[in-house]
Amino acid sequence: MSDPVIRSGQSSVHLTLHAADENRVPGSTGEPCVHLVNPSDVSFGVAVITPRWLYVLASATGVRWGDPHVVDETLDPIEPTDVKPGDVVGIGIHTGNALRGYAIGQMARARGAWVVFGGIHATLFPNEAREQGGAHAVVRGDGDVVWPTVIEECIAGRPSAVYEGGRVDGADFAPARWDLLPEGRYMWGSVQTVRGCPKHCSFCSVWRTDGQKPRQRVVDQVVREVVQLRRRGFRFIALADDNFYPVSFEDLAQARRRKDPARLAQLEALRDERLELMAQLARLPDDLVFYTQITMEAAEDGAFLDAMRRAHIRGALVGIESVTAAGLKDVYKGFNLAGDALVERLRAFRDHDIHVLGSFIFGLPSDAPDTFDATVALAERANLTFAQFVLLTPFPGTVDFEKWAAQASNRERRVDGIPVTTHWLIPKHLRPKLYTPHPVMSLEDIRLGTQHAWDRFYSWRSVWSRSRVVSSLKARLAFVLVSRLYRQMYANTGIATDSARVARSTRWARWLGLLTRRLFLTTPMPHLEMLEPEGAESAS
Ligand code: SF4
Repeated sequence: MSDPVIRSGQSSVHLTLHAADENRVPGSTGEPCVHLVNPSDVSFGVAVITPRWLYVLASATGVRWGDPHVVDETLDPIEPTDVKPGDVVGIGIHTGNALRGYAIGQMARARGAWVVFGGIHATLFPNEAREQGGAHAVVRGDGDVVWPTVIEECIAGRPSAVYEGGRVDGADFAPARWDLLPEGRYMWGSVQTVRGCPKHCSFCSVWRTDGQKPRQRVVDQVVREVVQLRRRGFRFIALADDNFYPVSFEDLAQARRRKDPARLAQLEALRDERLELMAQLARLPDDLVFYTQITMEAAEDGAFLDAMRRAHIRGALVGIESVTAAGLKDVYKGFNLAGDALVERLRAFRDHDIHVLGSFIFGLPSDAPDTFDATVALAERANLTFAQFVLLTPFPGTVDFEKWAAQASNRERRVDGIPVTTHWLIPKHLRPKLYTPHPVMSLEDIRLGTQHAWDRFYSWRSVWSRSRVVSSLKARLAFVLVSRLYRQMYANTGIATDSARVARSTRWARWLGLLTRRLFLTTPMPHLEMLEPEGAESAS
């Protein structure tokens, strides 16, 4: 990566804090400012989806300290001179961007600011955020409610080491401050409707961090934010949910079998709330397009898919993970289907006009050399509109990680002196792409096979052929651009080990992003009314 800020971050992050920095008490030169930072090693100038958490915490910040300074490094790197002594710098990290986040934390602390970390990774490793990132405080769990207290106590000079944000109830999810969005930099808005997922996939930490009990947001609050975004010209909106289909037929059947009326009523209420949300979204302008994340079980439920279509939910990320039963067993995802039944189930989405972005994992113990081509072939047969192919990575907070990190051979392995069991602390250019030895393939075979799957699924010929899902030539060209952009952003910068290829892809992605962004934004509707209750509307 060509960014000098990132380079210096990589080299400095393993240093412990200098004594002078540790003793420097953030001062009060001028009014303190609150900065909210989404760290990224790569900045594209434009981004596809608005990082929702930044704007939610901006709203939770309140007005007492003025508008917060929002920095999304997927657009541009943070400017260190913007950080003054006495400011509060909130940095949200997941495992993938923790190292970059720590470099920013060190920089901010050295400049005399109060440094606060939050996000999934900081929730799991608060001590690491202190030692590596210079955190004065760490927020564990949701920040929606506790964040104003954190700021106040920092500015008063007495932050606690840890704030337990817990899992806030759906009614208390903070809305986002969309008025702070920079103009024309994002293609999609993002609104959350539910946190938590009742499943327990072994590679995923969501069910452990966000909980298995779905916390659904109040319908009116969701609709209100969608209207705000549409007023600003966003017609594409990601529903940034863990799982949009939190109640399956099997869940309902199980409650009936167990003769548990309370549980059954609870599940039915959750499902009714989903249907009510979709009924309200259906009343919004027809040019809106929503996209969500959902388990493939939803394909069993024709009424639910119909409601999605009416609600303008035109796309869904579906975690397919593996095309074989053995692969699904590897990841505790027995509720997914394999083979022909899988193809049929995925096609059900398309039959209801819902485009699927299928997500697959490579490197599972049951994978074989022919898995890569078989997966791409199935993705094509199942009419997937987009696909992503990710490498099996033991992320902390997951069942897979615990098993992997407990093995002595993994505990002893080091890269650049850093244990691979803390692989996120290894400088990015030295970080292995895969960590788990495979029974029949070398790790390089898996990496190359994964790259090949991306190249094959997103070849010009395949993308042009799939572009038939839209009708006009202009829309087909837009489809091709978006497909290529997706591949550049997520495949070449994530899987390639060749730094020249990564740098080239980043430049391409920037260029494609600039070209593509206008295709998503539309004429603002500043006077779009909030929805009236249905009865009131029909009476008027
Ligand atoms: S991978 Fe998806 S379905 Fe599985 S636990 Fe995570 S959010 Fe739920």
